[in-house]
Amino acid sequence: MQDFTIKVVRIVKITNETPHAKTFVLEFLDESQPVYKPGQFLTLVFYTRHGEKRRSYSISSSPALNEPLSITIKKVENGEFSRMLLSHARAGDQLYTSGISGLFQLPGNLNNALQYFFIAAGSGITPCFSMLKTILATAQSKMVLIYSNRSEEETIFYNQLKKLQEIYPGRLTIRFLFSVIFDVEQSRLSSRLLQKFLDELLTVPAKDALFYVCGPFDYMRTVNITLLGRVPPQNIFKENFNALPRLIVPKPPDTMAHFVTIHINNQVHRLPVQYPSTILAVAKLHKIELPYSCEAGRCGSCIATCTSGKIWMAYNEVLTDDELERGRVLVCQSFPVEGDVEIVF
Ligand SMILES: Cc1cc2nc3c(=O)[nH]c(=O)nc-3n(C[C@H](O)[C@H](O)[C@H](O)COP(=O)(O)OP(=O)(O)OC[C@H]3O[C@@H](n4cnc5c(N)ncnc54)[C@H](O)[C@@H]3O)c2cc1C
Repeated sequence: MQDFTIKVVRIVKITNETPHAKTFVLEFLDESQPVYKPGQFLTLVFYTRHGEKRRSYSISSSPALNEPLSITIKKVENGEFSRMLLSHARAGDQLYTSGISGLFQLPGNLNNALQYFFIAAGSGITPCFSMLKTILATAQSKMVLIYSNRSEEETIFYNQLKKLQEIYPGRLTIRFLFSVIFDVEQSRLSSRLLQKFLDELLTVPAKDALFYVCGPFDYMRTVNITLLGRVPPQNIFKENFNALPRLIVPKPPDTMAHFVTIHINNQVHRLPVQYPSTILAVAKLHKIELPYSCEAGRCGSCIATCTSGKIWMAYNEVLTDDELERGRVLVCQSFPVEGDVEIVF
């Protein structure tokens, strides 16, 4: 059973990546370094005057290369914690984390895919960078990175990526797009430009390639719709950094109270849950430490398995049909319906 208790991490080192992004090397204090997969993220927990707040950050280091655990954070205009971390955090400072999670992952056998496409914008490069380094170091597959930024100066990992391209010229192809450039063919990733890249760079049948997409909401929507025109949906993986809550929460078909039994950290809790409170909201009220971050059905930190009864979810941007069939649920969006339920973390 995974341990979801809050842990302390120390910032070991901070590196400037661009004028608005820094990499933070972290060390867990109270246990040996955690196991993670390329593409996963770490959730930081902040205790503020207004209560507990959480922010997730994808891990930019590669476990295959034995790199120290690192996250890379880009400053968000008016953002509460990205600005605080970039402006004030120092090596030696301690942060809290609820741990590592995420389904934005590579397949078990990397050579199963003949080609990988990473399509990223801005800080969306962080999980892709970890995956890309891992594939280069441990498999033979070819890779394409299509990477959008405002300018070369603001491109996270620009020099490191150029270097990797030099080391692996036959395996890694990169197309940098900079929005400051006037030529539309080199600035914004439109559907037409992506089609052009696919015509030029997709060298295997689409069913043998995997596509990883991470960037702002509109960017991801354009990329996803374009890819769906020629790629099987199960070959497309998306990580959504936008964690803003949805304004309208649909009503479950059954709004009666039902008991929810929660198995976590070797403990069992039994709580009555009733709409409009989700299972997560009720657990938080009872001070039960469940993993979560966005509380919007978008990040996947709060995934559990429903082992008995029926759960209705208001929103789900993370779980695939396959995972839903296996009983996986996002607890931040979950309501028990038609009777009592049991969930296991
Ligand atoms: C799975 C996942 C992985 C992520 N990985 C990374 C990563 O590797 N690197 C990275 O830099 N970021 C990453 N993020 C994003 C990160 O978690 C934070 O969302 C980001 O740093 C902004 O947090 P903040 O506290 O600075 O901004 P916030 O205070 O959350 O504000 C974000 C923006 O929303 C606006 N805003 C806030 N509240 C509202 C509201 N109610 N209505 C409208 N607008 C509002 C703010 O003005 C601001 O522009 C990831 C997110 C997820 C979900």
